[in-house]
Order: sequence, then structure tokens, then C-alpha cells
Amino acid sequence: MDAAIKSIRPGKPSDKLPESRPGELDPAEFLAAAVRADQPRPARAEAEAAVKTLLAYIGENTEREGLLDTPRRVVEAFDELYQGYHQCPAEVLDRTFGETAGYDDFVLVRDIEFTSQCEHHMMPFYGKAHIAYTPVERVVGLSKLARLTDIFARRLQTQEHMTAQIAAAIDEIMKPRGVAVLIEAEHTCMSVRGVAKHGASTFTSRFTGMFRDNPAEQARFLSLVRGMR
Ligand SMILES: [Zn+2]
Repeated sequence: MDAAIKSIRPGKPSDKLPESRPGELDPAEFLAAAVRADQPRPARAEAEAAVKTLLAYIGENTEREGLLDTPRRVVEAFDELYQGYHQCPAEVLDRTFGETAGYDDFVLVRDIEFTSQCEHHMMPFYGKAHIAYTPVERVVGLSKLARLTDIFARRLQTQEHMTAQIAAAIDEIMKPRGVAVLIEAEHTCMSVRGVAKHGASTFTSRFTGMFRDNPAEQARFLSLVRGMR
């Protein structure tokens, strides 16, 4: 785990935390678009040349017909898979509806499918995110939670960090009474290489506010996620 993850986990839930809602993650880290427009980047041709180098590295003849367009296609695929660096979570969640019409339970969106790329191997991991929050005045359109998930999924990630980022973004922007995020995923860096175990799922979760402080709410969230399948 890297330092960024450690810093958002001040302690176990059993530790005595102050009663106020703590800012659990520095929002500046992820709320702005991750790549500034003026940030220097290699030219597209350089990226394609790098792909060609990798093809030669694995032993390919980079001049054979089937591979001539591959560097261009790979870079295009990267543009799509990593577009989250250019998208801003705050813009997605800022469009809230003011009226909750007295609704005081949590809102759960289950089974949000995603594909992300692991930052250790640049290989896909994919699965489902389940997100709940308890609104205070502000609610978002349900599709926005799926959009938010994609923004973070379309970057190089660890599953732990992605879980924490989704929770922190909702927590910071919407200031709900609590956020619960559970992600289950299969990592191809584990299923097709390394130990080569298919079908193993990794679960990560992140709870803030009432979900962190109230085990009964956590349990209700988990049973709704698990149930009705
Ligand atoms: Zn990996």
C-alpha cells in the first residue's frame, strides 16, 4: 500500500476518533482534473514508438503486416482506457437535486460494472462497485455514481485506492451523512499470470460517517448488496 492510502486511514474504526466528521482524504488530490492541460506530455508519435519497442522486446517482427497499425491502435486504446485523467469528479457530482422530499434512508446503487487497470502490471481488473450514501438535502442522479466510478476506473489504480477515492469524492462534494463503497473485482494480473488463479475475487470496502460509526447500517448495506441476487 502506498502513502496516499495510508494517509486516508487514520486508524481502525475501533480507535477513538473525534466525534466531528473528519476530512479523511485531501480532496485536492483527486477532485481537480488529474492532468493539467498545460502538463507536458510526450508526443503521440513517441508513445507509438514506445509500443513498437515493446513489440520488438517480446520478439516480434514490427514490420510484418499484422502489426503495422498496432502501435497506433494501442495508443488509441490507451486514450480510451485512461481518459479518467482528464475528467473531473466534482463536475459530475456538482449537479445535485436540492430536494430529498423528506427521504432519510440511504440510497444504494448496486452492481455498477467497471474495468480498470492495475498500476503494478497495467493489466485489467474488472468487477462491480456498490455505492450507498445517506443524503442531506442534496441527492445526485443515479447515473452520476456510475459516471464517478468510471472516472476513477479509467486511470491506473489499485482496487484499494479506487474504493477510497470514490468514497472520499462523494463525502467531500455532497457532504452526506455517510458513504459506503464495496468493490468486488477479478484481477487479470492474478488470473492470467503470476499464480494464474481464475475466479478469485478481491473485496475492498470503505465506510464513512454513519456507515463507519454504526455497525447496524454497515450490516444493512452489506445484506442489501448481497441479497436479492
Ligand atoms: Zn496487478
